[in-house]
Amino acid sequence: AANLLDDTTIVAIATPPGRGGIGIVRLSGPSAIAIAQELLPSLKTETRRTAQYAILHDEAGARVDDAIVTLFQSPHSYTGEDVVEIATHGSPIVLDWLVRACVHHGAQPARPGEFTERAFLRGRLDLTGAEAVRDLIDAQTLGQAKLAAQQMGGSIAAEVRPTKEALVALIATLEAGIDFAEDDLDTLPAAEIEARIAAIEPALQALLASFAHGRLMREGLRLAIVGRPNAGKSSLFNRLVQQDRAIVTATPGTTRDVISEHISINGVPVELLDTAGLRETDDEAERQGVARSRRAIADADAVLLILDASTPTEKDPALNELLRDRPVLEVHNKIDLLTRDISASNEAVAHTQRLPVRTSATTGEGIARLREAILTIARGEASTHSSGATLTNLRQREAVDRALQALQRARTAANGTPHEMLLLDLYESLRALDELTGQTTADDVLNLIFSSFCIGK
Ligand code: GDP
Ligand code: ZN
Repeated sequence: AANLLDDTTIVAIATPPGRGGIGIVRLSGPSAIAIAQELLPSLKTETRRTAQYAILHDEAGARVDDAIVTLFQSPHSYTGEDVVEIATHGSPIVLDWLVRACVHHGAQPARPGEFTERAFLRGRLDLTGAEAVRDLIDAQTLGQAKLAAQQMGGSIAAEVRPTKEALVALIATLEAGIDFAEDDLDTLPAAEIEARIAAIEPALQALLASFAHGRLMREGLRLAIVGRPNAGKSSLFNRLVQQDRAIVTATPGTTRDVISEHISINGVPVELLDTAGLRETDDEAERQGVARSRRAIADADAVLLILDASTPTEKDPALNELLRDRPVLEVHNKIDLLTRDISASNEAVAHTQRLPVRTSATTGEGIARLREAILTIARGEASTHSSGATLTNLRQREAVDRALQALQRARTAANGTPHEMLLLDLYESLRALDELTGQTTADDVLNLIFSSFCIGK
């Protein structure tokens, strides 16, 4: 019931908590403008989508603050309803008072995400667009923000529209055949049904493949830095962090006793894990460090193996075993100390597919190449990088996956299966695509999505 459109007017502070230069209270709903007029007697309600100056008054007529007010008339607003944005000086006291005053005049405090939910319910955004609004606000790198902005513009919905049209056309043809066919005469030969389904599938396959890129952009790449003590792990870690540290809301510090930092390389979020040295030892403290390294390697998507290029090192079977089947980037550090190139004799790892990167944490040489190589690993993990519509969460992927599987079932069964049966799968496919964009989505799923928003959005 919470998702049904009602005629209430909602209100919330739209700016972050705390003091600021400006604070904004937003109203949405049929009484938004009337409520604003109660508090801003000088408001000119015929002025739409243009900022105007007005004075905020309390019940007794006393001036509380100056305000810049913008009115948006339904349907030309974020929610599709009448919307009023009241910008005051960013005093938490004034903003709190303003919300309470709006509630006093009949508004209801908005639930988290309720403005966007209303926009969705009024058809201003599809469900993937609404998710993108949240992703944009939560973005921790500019790359994430740009991806979300693209999706907010309806890129996924636009991508599946032709697929849905083709699917609906096929369903309509088959339905017509069932209703009107004389005797057992099928209107569409099986080969043509197969061909029409086969023509629909690639678009969904491409969309599904985009998820690898979407997940990388969303979750980033976890990179464990490992190597012998003194190889230069911490120095390289610091070099990368100094240049690329991402502004994150997550508490910085240690993950499972491993030092971790979030950085952003060309918009791709990367979490670096600096582990303690990797060497079998009798020393108890160091033994614990080794255990931590093993865990970090297990947790990571890829491993930076740091070797001291100035000191020959032997093969390390235990390390090789640990790194088997993991994406490993070998880094030969301390190249500033090289008088002759002995890095070729570095045999710590028997074979990695990639060429080693040569760096000096001391001089900074090779750090740019290292960043490039990290990006290449990241892209390798998402080799089918699509520049178009990109699925960014599991809900979206699951829906497209289901749509594709139902199509494939119908195609393989087309020959020899009654059309009534094929239609079940085709409808299932269509339903999955409708859930993707939110045309038909269960209330509890909607509640879950919108409750993950902040209040005021
Ligand atoms: P970790 O034990 O692998 O974390 O190694 P550290 O980063 O703590 O470095 C060990 C020592 O090697 C320190 O004295 C660093 O200053 C030094 N070091 C690290 N990288 C380089 C480098 O590229 N060149 C030189 N000359 N010294 C380095
Ligand atoms: Zn270290």
